[in-house]
Order: sequence, then C-alpha cells, then structure tokens
Amino acid sequence: MKLNMFIDGSWQAGSTNQTRQIVNPANGEIIAEAAEGTTRDVEYAISVARKTFESGIWSEKTAEERAEVLLKIAQKIDEKQEELAKLETLDNGKTLREASYDMSDAANCFRYYAGLIRAPHGETYHVPDNMQAMVVREPIGVCGLIVPWNYPLLMSVWKLAPALAAGNTVVYKPSEVTPVTPVKLFEIFEEVGLPHGVANLVLGEGKVVGHTIVESHDVDMVSFTGGTETGRHIMRTAAGNMKKVSLELGGKSPNIIFADSDFETAVDYALFGIFSGAGQVCSAGSRILVEESIQEAFISRFVERTKKIKVGPGLNPESEMGPLVSEEHMKKVLRYIEIGKEEGAELACGGYRILDEGYDKGYFVAPTVFIHTTPDMRIVQEEIFGPVVVFQTFKDEREAIKLANDTKYGLAGGVFTQDAAKAMRVIKKVRAGITWVNTYHGTYNEAPWHGYKQSGIGSSLGTYGLDEFLEIKQINFNLQVEPIGWFKN
Ligand code: NDP
Repeated sequence: MKLNMFIDGSWQAGSTNQTRQIVNPANGEIIAEAAEGTTRDVEYAISVARKTFESGIWSEKTAEERAEVLLKIAQKIDEKQEELAKLETLDNGKTLREASYDMSDAANCFRYYAGLIRAPHGETYHVPDNMQAMVVREPIGVCGLIVPWNYPLLMSVWKLAPALAAGNTVVYKPSEVTPVTPVKLFEIFEEVGLPHGVANLVLGEGKVVGHTIVESHDVDMVSFTGGTETGRHIMRTAAGNMKKVSLELGGKSPNIIFADSDFETAVDYALFGIFSGAGQVCSAGSRILVEESIQEAFISRFVERTKKIKVGPGLNPESEMGPLVSEEHMKKVLRYIEIGKEEGAELACGGYRILDEGYDKGYFVAPTVFIHTTPDMRIVQEEIFGPVVVFQTFKDEREAIKLANDTKYGLAGGVFTQDAAKAMRVIKKVRAGITWVNTYHGTYNEAPWHGYKQSGIGSSLGTYGLDEFLEIKQINFNLQVEPIGWFKN
C-alpha cells in the first residue's frame, strides 16, 4: 500500500519522494510505504489552506451546505466501516472489536457536528436602548491539527469534524506510526467533494512536520492531542504569533474502589479501565485505589481475571487485547516494568514480553499488575501508556481523595460505591475533567472531553469542542445614527 499526502485536492508524494515503512505491530510485517513530508511540503500545505480560507469557498458556505458535506462523510465512513476497522487493526494493533467501535464513533462525530453547526450560535445583550449588542461566532482561519497513534482515525475526527463544521481550513498531521486510516479518511473527503484546499493532509515526523505547523505564523490555531512533554513544547513554539492552542494531553487516572461497591462490577470495569486498548488510552484507569478492608479479595480476583485475558493479534476474533503500537513503544513500557521492580513494587502478574510462537515478531506485552506501591514511585506518578496497572490502598474517603489527586495530571477518574452521596462527594473532589461513577471509559460526542492540570487546555467534543474552532465577535450596532458630540469643536 502506498500512502501519499493530500494537498490542494491532489495526492502528492512529497518534495523529496522519501518514504517511511509502516509496520503491523502484531507481526512486524510492513503493510505500507508512507510519503515523508518535509518543511517545504508543510509550508506549501499551509499556504494552500490560507489561500482557500481567504477565498471563502468553505467559510462562506451556509451551515446547511457544510453540514451536508459532513453528513456524506459520515455515510461513507459507515459504508466502509469494515474495511476501515480492519486497516486500523493492521496499523495500530487494537482488536477488531475496538476498531469497529472507533469507526462508528467517528461517523457519529461527523453527524453530531453536522447537526450542531445548524443550531443557534450567538447571543444578544441588554444594553442601552440606542444600541444593540450581539455576539457572532466566526471560523478562526487556518487550523493545524496534530494527533497521536492510539486512536488514529477517531482522534483525527474529534478535531476534523468540528474544525470543518466551523468553516475553517486545516493542515492535519497524523502520527508517523499510524497514517493508514487518516489517508483513507482523506480519500472519503475527495469522494464527497470537499472543496480543494479545505483539508490538507501532511505525513511525516512530529519534529519536522508537526513543528513546522506549530511554528508557522500563517496558522491561526493548533489543536494537539498527545503527550504532556510534546504539549509543553507546542505551547512554547506557538507563542511566535500568539496562535490559540488547544491541548489534550496525558493522564495517570485514579479508579477508586470502595468496600461497599458491587464487587464483580468494580473488578470488571477496573479491568476494562486499564487493559482495553492495551492500556494505550489517555484516560486509562492506570492507578486502582482500593479500600484496605477489601484489598486482598479485590486484588486476588483482579489478578485472577487479568491472567485470563486473551492477548493476541487484533484480527483474531478470539483476541481480547492486541499488541502495543510499535517496537519503540513496547521497549518504553518494558523499561517502566523494570523501573517498577527496581523501585521495590511487587509484580503480581505479567511483566514480560510475550515471545511464544506466533507472537515473537509482534509487540505483545502481558497485562501487568503491580502491588505494594508507594505514591512516590515513578510507576505511580508517570504515564506508562501500556497494559500496566498499579494498586494503591486507602483507609477512608479522605485518604482516597488525597491519593487520587496526588498527580500532576487531571484527565479522568472513576469511583465505585453503592452509596450515592459518597460517590458524589468523592467525584466532586477529584481534580479531573472526565469522571465516572460505577462505570469507566464511556465517551459521548455530546459531552465535553477536558483535562485539568497538566492534562490539557481546552476541550474536545460537545458544544465546547465546536467553540474551540470559533472566534467570538462582539458587534455593537448603533440604532440612533447621529454624531456623538464628544469634542465640542
Ligand atoms: P506524542 O506527543 O509523542 O505525539 C503526538 C503527535 O505529536 C504525533 O503526531 C507526533 O508526531 C507529534 N509530535 C511529536 N513531536 C512534535 C513536535 N515537536 N511538534 C509538533 N508535533 C509533534 O504522543 P504519542 O503519539 O506518543 O501519543 C501518546 C500520548 O497521547 C499519551 O501521552 C496520551 O495520554 C496522549 N493522548 C491524550 C488524549 C487526550 O484526549 N487527552 C487522547 C489520546 C492520547 P510523530 O508521531 O511523528 O512523533
């Protein structure tokens, strides 16, 4: 498979014709050759996006016209769902079941923003009678969109759908590791007749392609999802022209289990919270905080079930957890497991690369559970972004909240208890933007996705996700047109 860039409505191999090999993480086989973008390619894409924005060909369309294009995109994603899910699994490694959910979420995200852009936007204000004050929302201009590899298509759609609905033009960069479904999405853009130059796809390395997007003074906004360190770099780089930045970053989210929770439900969701997506999920419940009185029973049941998780290639319908996305990332996760052991945490299960026959060329890591941890350990504080969970224990509500918030991150958190008032007391104290009570991981296009602390700035999804891509303009309309008479002569 050859993957090219899509700039100004045409497929391009890039200014140097260089390519990058794209690997199936389940077996190390090369599945595609992707064009490698350069600074020149990005600058070209930005100039096209700028020219296209200023032409008004998209920004001046009616909301209805834009919505119609978005609905066609949603329809095509649905029609191609099977093919897209399979490609996502081949490229990212996630199970076909997980990839299929992503595809239907992606189609629905386009549908949601197609509807939302036609809803009323703007306000009027009560000001002196001779004036009418109002706010209208306008597209920001050229938006740079940069996404990671864990949900290659879905994370892209969380940005592309609202950015396009709002009338912007975009320069978009997927992760260098997972460009396959992003390219397929741009084929859909072409099929449905999105005007040339509205959405431009540049492939390649973050340090080159991503950096050039963020640095450019011709880009009005950057919406980024990825690691906190990269986010920090992006904030600094974006300062050149004071462009708006929206950052969805990492997490180390607490999942708090009280003794009075429904035991099997809590175990089940705790497993789902950390091991779905092989733990490569920003909101993963990677710290399980369990009340001391049930710790033994809970950990024992959790470990028993962890050992039974069927790890295997995502395309195998029997597999419940796929490989990690790349060899490099697998090495990073394995290194964290070593750090955990060196720090004195106890490995309750997992902790190794699976090298059985049929697995040895892939990047499979056994689901790993650490117990007897302390809050200062690196495996408790740092985002591992793999199938590795740490257990912490607490005596009472106060200690649970203290431990939950003992992190630089603030993305997500869960609470399990059958006491509704306690659930509400605790969840209100958890310093995180996405929280769950007696459940974990549910995400809805209608509701905002938002991080506290070093987990980000700004929001995705919901009405907030659209507002990220709109400017607010105040208009003051004089209803009594006559001189003000401020200066006498
Ligand atoms: P990275 O931060 O490494 O990369 C994210 C994107 O940024 C990639 O496209 C990458 O390109 C690009 N990039 C890298 N360096 C630069 C740079 N200097 N300038 C501009 N762009 C750059 O994250 P990962 O891809 O490793 O993704 C995992 C991280 O994403 C985790 O921390 C996870 O928590 C977070 N995440 C957050 C979510 C949220 O909603 N809060 C959702 C999903 C993930 P390249 O791939 O070429 O390096």
